[in-house]
Amino acid sequence: MWLGIDDTDSREGMCTTHLACDIIKALNEDGMDIIGMPRLVRLNPNIPWKTRGNGAIAIQFGRGGGRRTEIGYVEGKRYCYEKKISDGKTEPEKVLERIDKIVRKRAMMESEQTNPGLVVIEKKPPYSLYRKAVRSVVEINDIKNVLDEMGALYIPYKNGRGLIGASAAVSWRPRDRTYEIITYRNGGERWVDEESVKRMDRKFKKTFDNYDYINRHVQIMPNSPCPVMYGIRGDDYQELREAMEYVVSGKIKRWMIFETNQATDEHLNRRKIGEVVAYESVIVTGEVCREPRTIEGGHVIFSLCDGNEIECAAYEPTKSFRNLVRRLRKGDRVTVYGGVRDKPRTINIEKIEIHSLAEVYKKKENPICTKCGKHMKSVGKGKGYRCIKCGTTAKEEDATFEKVERGIKPGFYEVDVVARRHLSKPLKRFKPSPDRY
Ligand SMILES: [Zn+2]
Repeated sequence: MWLGIDDTDSREGMCTTHLACDIIKALNEDGMDIIGMPRLVRLNPNIPWKTRGNGAIAIQFGRGGGRRTEIGYVEGKRYCYEKKISDGKTEPEKVLERIDKIVRKRAMMESEQTNPGLVVIEKKPPYSLYRKAVRSVVEINDIKNVLDEMGALYIPYKNGRGLIGASAAVSWRPRDRTYEIITYRNGGERWVDEESVKRMDRKFKKTFDNYDYINRHVQIMPNSPCPVMYGIRGDDYQELREAMEYVVSGKIKRWMIFETNQATDEHLNRRKIGEVVAYESVIVTGEVCREPRTIEGGHVIFSLCDGNEIECAAYEPTKSFRNLVRRLRKGDRVTVYGGVRDKPRTINIEKIEIHSLAEVYKKKENPICTKCGKHMKSVGKGKGYRCIKCGTTAKEEDATFEKVERGIKPGFYEVDVVARRHLSKPLKRFKPSPDRY
């Protein structure tokens, strides 16, 4: 049996992973085992009506067998099993009833943006459901039809939008996957020792996005008022357990390891510029056709063309990444990765690959008159030169030019750690060299 839950959090606090801890405890108390790790599945980050991180939870339960792995601490150690032996004494209706009580007690129902969904289902919905929910926009009625056909039990709370994420999370099949260990303070003070995070970051090579060395920011610690103390992400869950021991922080009341689709780039759609749709995340390749300019607020905008044209933005929060983007020039060939804003239609850059740089020249000297040996004067922009003494003329290209040192190189670049999105695959995870999409 699978349980999916989404959209219980709000901007004011609470988070769905914390609720997942309560659910795991409740399932265990009712004699059910957790099969495989609990899953934290991030969905399309550009949905305008999403709550904070747009992360949903999927948990498989039943009677477990095979290897047992410690996955967390929630008023006692919590384990998961390698495989399912049977459904055990699972009664889906009772599970739904029990979890419903927890959701009603714990979810931030009063927040307008919070519209939870809870699903209990025997088989996973088709993978295509996840794929659509992570890459574009899914309608709630489409989901209800799938759930009804599959005989799922479900509860839509309020407008029920959370059913989309809850179902999509269950339908995720980890092709690429990472892990996150999340620790909770449960009302206690949130503080994390910065130096200990740097030490941890340097020691554990398979973790990522722990600390932003450019902006001196502890990235593992959220800013929202949720019960989380910090979360460490990485490719190896065993390493995450050790990494947790390295971080010096306020008192940890619980912790849990989640298997996730974070840092996988699964939200991205390869598109031609003319096919770019609002609220998607895309990969587009083209030539810089309007050079970068900095607008109010410190955002840097340039235009990319492949026959059609679209604006690309490195927003102020991407920090030092903007210095790279500012150096782009007309004719540079690049691939941009990012989310699409509707109005104005703009790609919010997460990563950029510079394939080739245009040769840029600037004029060094005006041409010299062959008769008089003196520098000629410009007649006007683009109109050539004339000697003021004898009237001899010369063309624009007769001037002496020098190649401009561009100060950037072809390669892959990403926004500063502080601006990373959950689903964006950090360059650190591209092995051995960046994949081609
Ligand atoms: Zn002359």
